[in-house]
Amino acid sequence: NEAVSKNFIEQIIEKDLAEGHCESVVTRFPPEPNGYLHIGHAKSILLNYGLSKKYGGKFNLRFDDTNPTKEKVEFVESIQADVKWLGADWEDRLFFASDYFDQMYEAAVKLIKNGKAYVSDLTAEQIREYRGTLTEPGKNDPNRERSAEENLDLFERMKNGEFEDGTMVLRAKIDMTSSNINMRDPVIYRVAHMTHHRTGDKWCIYPMYDFAHPIEDAIEGITHSICTLEFEDHRPLYDWVVTELGYKKNEDDTPKQIEFAKLYLTNVVTGKRYIKRLVEEGIVDGWDDPRLVSIAALRRRGFTPESIRNFVELCGISKANSSVDYAMLEYCIREDLKMKRPRMMAVLDPVKVIIDNYPEDQVEQLEVTNNLENPELGTREVPFTKELYIDREDFMENPPKKYFRMFPGNEVRLMNAYFVKCESFKKDENGNVTEIHCTYDPASKGGNSPDGRKVKGTIQWVSAKYAKPVTVRLYENIVNEELGVYNEDGSLNLNPNSLTVLENCMVEPALMEAKPYESFQFVRQGFFCADCKDSKPGQPVFNRVVSLKSSFKL
Ligand code: ATP
Ligand code: MG
Ligand code: MG
Repeated sequence: NEAVSKNFIEQIIEKDLAEGHCESVVTRFPPEPNGYLHIGHAKSILLNYGLSKKYGGKFNLRFDDTNPTKEKVEFVESIQADVKWLGADWEDRLFFASDYFDQMYEAAVKLIKNGKAYVSDLTAEQIREYRGTLTEPGKNDPNRERSAEENLDLFERMKNGEFEDGTMVLRAKIDMTSSNINMRDPVIYRVAHMTHHRTGDKWCIYPMYDFAHPIEDAIEGITHSICTLEFEDHRPLYDWVVTELGYKKNEDDTPKQIEFAKLYLTNVVTGKRYIKRLVEEGIVDGWDDPRLVSIAALRRRGFTPESIRNFVELCGISKANSSVDYAMLEYCIREDLKMKRPRMMAVLDPVKVIIDNYPEDQVEQLEVTNNLENPELGTREVPFTKELYIDREDFMENPPKKYFRMFPGNEVRLMNAYFVKCESFKKDENGNVTEIHCTYDPASKGGNSPDGRKVKGTIQWVSAKYAKPVTVRLYENIVNEELGVYNEDGSLNLNPNSLTVLENCMVEPALMEAKPYESFQFVRQGFFCADCKDSKPGQPVFNRVVSLKSSFKL
């Protein structure tokens, strides 16, 4: 039944369209350019964009840049790159709230003229005291009954820079006894002598979020202003602003604010404060370190927009806060890459294998299927030679029961190549295996023996002559999963093993051509992506996106 599968926001939108509260749907993503976007923002972006697509409407990207303290051009740029990468195309609908400062000023003047706003010289502390509490009503501001003329004059002087920061504010005149504290004459403009990243020093007064945001929405013709739950108590103020300014007549009309629950991931660090410290202390190599969950970090790690879209969809839209396990995100990228990416051979901890009965200078180019589950990915050639590398883990001198890989006397399949039997091996003075000697069965080419002989183990390998050494990085959670993210004193429980750098991994030659962001399955090891910062042409550095095994089940 289709009606049941609609989320509550879709239900509101469809009702509004049916009842004529709006003619079409216009949504927006309104980031403040004060940091990098993270996985939580992706949910908001994809939700807003998805709704505009679903209802044939429009989607705006709007920078909510009304508070110059922490805003930077750097973030304006990174946010655009991230939104674009996620596939939320705003076309020509890119807006800046700061472009509306004149209109916001005029809106404030209109409120003053209508007796709906007044200038106050109470200090921030006094305003807090007068505001009352949840159980106690507020008290009227002594400036509340000032005449409109006087207020207009004072407000203009605020704008002209006659007052110091924090000395004067403009307050909406609503109701100091309201049960909703947000309605107790909220401050809507403040003095702040700050340089804005776009308007420079034109303004020394700036509007507060609760006043600015509804105006921005109304100017752009936003119909459904979707935000997160903590703004639920602000909705009456949102409606007050758009109604007093004549943008709508009754509550059911648009623009209207709709709240949904934030996306929280368990066991990840999202707080800006913490990430900043990790960067400053050199624990991570930037805001896009692959262990973080900023959009830039996920992209660098090797996540795809599709995997994030899928993830967000699986999370669903709800009115109740909850958190989702990181394993679900891993599940989504694994599912996405499984069929799309070629399966290559890489040996992370190499040990040499010599095939004693293989001709010294022979090179066979074996034709290998790139992805057995997806023939469209075609084939490639992999060189086979007398000397190979296999993973140290795939050989044991004294194997336990049920170990089917290489050990003295045992026959295994070299993936896509031949059956080989281990004949002997050498160790150094520390007991480390230095080389393994095998014989191969030429009749088993391709990985099957014509006599129907079975082998239980199949291992990957690379030609020692043609393999190239590369750096591979493995990741674990940056925080200790057992102890949780934070200690009691607020510090982070870092996992000392969150990064493992392997310097001399051997990979098949085709992998040397990997381009930044290109990803592969390394058979039996996981999915790996060429790092966008540290790879050089012909010398990639691979980050493990995710292992092949999953702890998450749908
Ligand atoms: P943060 O402090 O984490 O950067 P924010 O709310 O300050 O979050 P904004 O730039 O104001 O960031 O966010 C832009 C939009 O993204 C807002 O509409 C906000 O509701 C939404 N958003 C922020 N965090 C989440 C989240 N965890 N899940 C879903 N939406 C989110
Ligand atoms: Mg933010
Ligand atoms: Mg915010």
